[in-house]
Amino acid sequence: MILSENLHRHVAYLTEEIGVRLAGSEQEKQAAEYIKARMLEYVPDCLIETFPVNCCKVEKEELSALVDGQWKKYDTILFNGAPGTGGKTIETELVYFDAHQDYQRKDISFVSGKAVIHWGLSFGSEENYRRMMEAKPACLLMVDTRYTSQIPLGDGMFPAYVKAHGAIPTVNVAFFDAWELCSKKAEKIRLNVEGEAVPAVSYNVIATIPGTLEEPLCFYAGGHLDTQSRTVGADDNAIGCAVMVELARVLSQKKLRHTVKLIAFGAEEQLSAGSSAYVRRHREEVEKYGRFMWNFDSCASAVGWNNFWINVNDTLHRALTDCYHEHDVYYNEIRGAEPTIDLFPLTACGVPGISMHRRNCETGTFFHHRPANALENISTDVAAQIANAALDLIERLDKEEYDDKFSIDPDLVQAVKDGWEGTFGGWEG
Ligand SMILES: [Zn+2]
Repeated sequence: MILSENLHRHVAYLTEEIGVRLAGSEQEKQAAEYIKARMLEYVPDCLIETFPVNCCKVEKEELSALVDGQWKKYDTILFNGAPGTGGKTIETELVYFDAHQDYQRKDISFVSGKAVIHWGLSFGSEENYRRMMEAKPACLLMVDTRYTSQIPLGDGMFPAYVKAHGAIPTVNVAFFDAWELCSKKAEKIRLNVEGEAVPAVSYNVIATIPGTLEEPLCFYAGGHLDTQSRTVGADDNAIGCAVMVELARVLSQKKLRHTVKLIAFGAEEQLSAGSSAYVRRHREEVEKYGRFMWNFDSCASAVGWNNFWINVNDTLHRALTDCYHEHDVYYNEIRGAEPTIDLFPLTACGVPGISMHRRNCETGTFFHHRPANALENISTDVAAQIANAALDLIERLDKEEYDDKFSIDPDLVQAVKDGWEGTFGGWEG
């Protein structure tokens, strides 16, 4: 049985001893080594694989705006994967751009040379991103419209978009700061960001518990090591890594027919870079033997409800529903191919699965990518209950009757294919 106090101990170490764990940073490496050492206490086969990422190294960030005739300072966080201003100050006019509607305009050249208040974090599509880059604004001030806040949050660019269309200085500003800039009709801004994303290395920690069959299939479970800037990520996602260690402890005592690989992925916050690196490197293994994935990401909000992404066929769906309900775990279900979670690259290899996530407000979690994503706001009891349901499901799906029953929801096959090609850049990345 997965124990809440063990989860608590691992999360405390990752968040309070190590702290913020940006992809490619020394702290992410420390987290990888901690998880590997804990895994090795139970599982002899545990190794670290590395892959290239960009690590955001920012020395200085300054945004000020001319409001009511005075220059006033505002807090920002540079997007991971975006360039800074090379230490130079950009001074330019502000223009408001609503990400929900303004992409419908045929002509968006009015942003050219300006600082764009991008109302909404999402570009909506690669085509919109391409048009924005082509219009050549001076910089983007991105606003999170999901949860209104006094502070900015850390976020990142889609690497495949940047590779295809380039990038300009892109920072997050707090919702209410952006509100003030708009409502007080700030005339101009000055932005100076020294530092940017530099080439670095990230880590996947992989523990393998071999199955007893001669040619076993393979189950995967995952959680991610890294965080965004200025957040220790207790819920996102120290808890997922803690669950991996607990699964290693419990599953190492059982003799399952099929192999289980428990993976603490690096660089999830750079659009699932660790899980895509894993499937690109082990494509044959995943496509041939991969049968199911349990992804744990942000599944411990102390208050709130479960929101699970599920992409499985009807047979698996029944097994899954029965099992979780027997464990008193109920959830809102999203049947979809969500690209921003580590389940997606495995699904691109045909592996069905579930990603366990909780919400505490309609638009997500109020501490998403923010400092309040900390131990005091999560419940390891809640996470343990979810993980114990998942553990039971692993044992149930290990039975022979399911051996030929693993496939993804046929309605999602095309969307997964398109997402892998479009958002991830396919097998070449
Ligand atoms: Zn996450």
